[in-house]
Amino acid sequence: MDKIHKIIRIAIDVPVPGLFDYLAEASSEDIGRRVIVPFGKKQIAGIVLEVGSHSEVPENRLKPAFRIFRENPPLDRNLLDLFRFCSGYYHHPIGSVVMNALPAKLKTLEPLELKQDLFLSLTEAGRMAQPRGRNLNRLLDSLRVNPVLSMNSLRTEFPLPSIRKLLDLGFAEAAPGKPAPIEIAPHPVLNESQHNAVSGILGNLSGFHPWLLFGVTGSGKTEVYLQVISRILQMGRQVLFLVPEINLTPHLEQVFKSRFPGTSIASLHSGLSDTERVQNWLKAQTGQARIVLGTRLAVFTPFFSLGLIVVDEEHDASFKQQEGLRYSARDVAVMRAKRENIPVILGSATPSLESYFSAMKGRYRLLELKTRAVLEARLPEVHFVDLRSEKRHGGLSEKLIKAVSLRLERKEQSLIFINRRGYSPALICSSCSWTPDCKRCSSRLVLHLKEGRLRCHYCGHEEKIVQTCPHCGNLDLKPVGHGTQRIESELLGHFPHARILRIDRDSIRKKKSWNEMLQKIRRGEADILVGTQILAKGHDFPNLTLVGILNPDASLYSSDFRASERLFAQLAQVSGRAGRAGSPGEVLIQTEFIDHPLYVALKHHDYRAMAELLLEERKAAGFPPYVHQALIRAESASIEQAMAFLGHVSAIASNLAGEVTVFDPAPASMARLGNMERAQILFQSPFRKKLQEFLDTLLPGLNSSNRTVRWHVDVDPLEF
Ligand code: ADP
Ligand code: ZN
Ligand code: ZN
Repeated sequence: MDKIHKIIRIAIDVPVPGLFDYLAEASSEDIGRRVIVPFGKKQIAGIVLEVGSHSEVPENRLKPAFRIFRENPPLDRNLLDLFRFCSGYYHHPIGSVVMNALPAKLKTLEPLELKQDLFLSLTEAGRMAQPRGRNLNRLLDSLRVNPVLSMNSLRTEFPLPSIRKLLDLGFAEAAPGKPAPIEIAPHPVLNESQHNAVSGILGNLSGFHPWLLFGVTGSGKTEVYLQVISRILQMGRQVLFLVPEINLTPHLEQVFKSRFPGTSIASLHSGLSDTERVQNWLKAQTGQARIVLGTRLAVFTPFFSLGLIVVDEEHDASFKQQEGLRYSARDVAVMRAKRENIPVILGSATPSLESYFSAMKGRYRLLELKTRAVLEARLPEVHFVDLRSEKRHGGLSEKLIKAVSLRLERKEQSLIFINRRGYSPALICSSCSWTPDCKRCSSRLVLHLKEGRLRCHYCGHEEKIVQTCPHCGNLDLKPVGHGTQRIESELLGHFPHARILRIDRDSIRKKKSWNEMLQKIRRGEADILVGTQILAKGHDFPNLTLVGILNPDASLYSSDFRASERLFAQLAQVSGRAGRAGSPGEVLIQTEFIDHPLYVALKHHDYRAMAELLLEERKAAGFPPYVHQALIRAESASIEQAMAFLGHVSAIASNLAGEVTVFDPAPASMARLGNMERAQILFQSPFRKKLQEFLDTLLPGLNSSNRTVRWHVDVDPLEF
């Protein structure tokens, strides 16, 4: 029996650093367990991180804990260590780190209960049955493919009454029980580079090995993951698979289900109800779920026996959380793999410069897939439309219109990519050049003609479309520039009979609509897709042969040093949607800078040329990955107060700087957002450790700051 202590130190979700001491008889076995304690006048839930016999707080002021949930397994030590690491590295209170990494249900006062899963199997009668009803037949079809399916997984796709009906009719039976042993459906023979990648990884399964799987779009990275995963599953271990976006989960879930029939797969993302989320989380913790598929927060899932982490589309900025604990799930995944002593695979067609740099330095091992996996599929041909000379009708060049009409004749799909939603990015008065601005932000209001509104894309403010210029009384207000809605209507003008699908944040606002649109595209029920970067991510559209890219030039000369990297990734990804099956693809880019090195690299599908070029620029300018950065952002109702606070920070910081460069405080690039004025101060150092030590000294002194300024720190910031 473990020694009994009388004090527990717990993490609770309050914005104060450190742990809170309570009285409870507890042993080291209680570390990682959930507790309920009194806090002020309330009761709240927390997690025990330490047990001990002494407290800094006088014992008569300590309060007893109400309850320790001993019926649930505790969080394991590795995960608790990971929380501690994140709290230290991102300089965020440990209580907030721990409690926000856990499903909401863990913050309630109730015990948790893992609902036992039932397994449905097809009966003899069900084998041949053809009952009335679409859902019944789809259910039977699923069971004919996988004769045993878990109730929980079926319930994500089918309504409960249909499942009950199937059981009532005797076409299927439900029984509790262990999931079937790992079964692996037939799979394609790997090509040589895939084979090298898989055997490289499989040859190094024991211990921490970070891999960068750099494979062009359509090179079959998924197949590499699948074959590695299948070995991990056979070893009896679990897999954590991270994707940048919730929209990518349904397709992958399908891929996993058909490759590993009968294997329990749990999704963890923001689209789940609190109950579904905690159930899936518990399944991961108890080892029932073999594969956990999730977005960034899933990096903090507890596992019974984790054997592999995959971060797909690792370059994607969505892995970075932009509020609260500002962590990069990709970086935390690598850190976690290191702590768990397991391999981690970062995959991308356009790796982040940070990861590519790490591979060049030998910190990560590089695996390359240079060609498309399907024999007939080649990378698309990239052509440019020179906007300085080509004829244009509105936003579309004549060349692009011709290319689209050719696709319509051939019954192939086209995609027009424009990274701006709404009708046009601004309205302008034709006589005095007045434009409507957001009153709460330093931004223009975007014209949304479909909705009849002007909208701010930063704070969500909206208002009616103004008809008269408030400045000069002119009635002629004109839209300038193009957004998805305007391109959609121009396309309709050119191709009145085409089926056009607009895909942007406005058109997929409803929870299910993006999935329905994806189905439509796959079934060939759309001829032309118009959309933003939502379309660029990881989707496979077999009949798509043309990608038109409008107005990418602005990012070439942005003040954000990451803009070119992002632009290249975005364009390479969206181009990669073309010609993935048999038919060759074409990409047409409308630009005024056809000779720009970024476009040249894109034309030759030469990520490396691009990466080398950008790395050289970063090195010369002293930007990441050659230095490490941290920001303190301050916001206040008045810019003077925000700047004054940062001036105070700057004065203290300059005294400790050492090998850390302290930049002058400056207004943020979005200086005003939601009625708050924003400013920031940047610190950087070639040495991560020095920067960390610097922050460790600087930050504690700032906590007692004034109330009119809110501030936070962002380590490894992506946005400025
Ligand atoms: P990526 O994720 O690298 O963009 P995918 O994994 O989507 O590429 O693969 C592209 C296509 O190639 C898919 O249709 C996949 O089924 C197919 N594929 C992958 N590997 C092979 C292989 N070894 N032989 C034949 N087809 C393959
Ligand atoms: Zn005017
Ligand atoms: Zn606004």
